[in-house]
Amino acid sequence: MKKKDRRISDIISTVIAYAVLAGPVIILVVVMAFSCYEKVKNTLTFHSPFEKKVYYTIDGEFYHESEDCPALEDSERVYSAYKEELTGKTPCGQCFGRE
Ligand SMILES: [Zn+2]
Repeated sequence: MKKKDRRISDIISTVIAYAVLAGPVIILVVVMAFSCYEKVKNTLTFHSPFEKKVYYTIDGEFYHESEDCPALEDSERVYSAYKEELTGKTPCGQCFGRE
């Protein structure tokens, strides 16, 4: 009985020792991760994952809802971006407003 008690208190003190040692490390990692996240969040504009990207070509006048739009058929390079990142381009009449 006494031997068993001894073993349990040994385990407890070992766990406490690990917690004391690991505690500051865990806090440091959490703080670092959080500050990194804040930095990344500040440099990138936040876009919801449900926000759809549009497709465009460098010299094209329009942006497109679909990469497969017939107007993009002859374009070699099609880029994608969020709508508000594109200035001076208007929605394509062929793929927008087509349901
Ligand atoms: Zn289009």
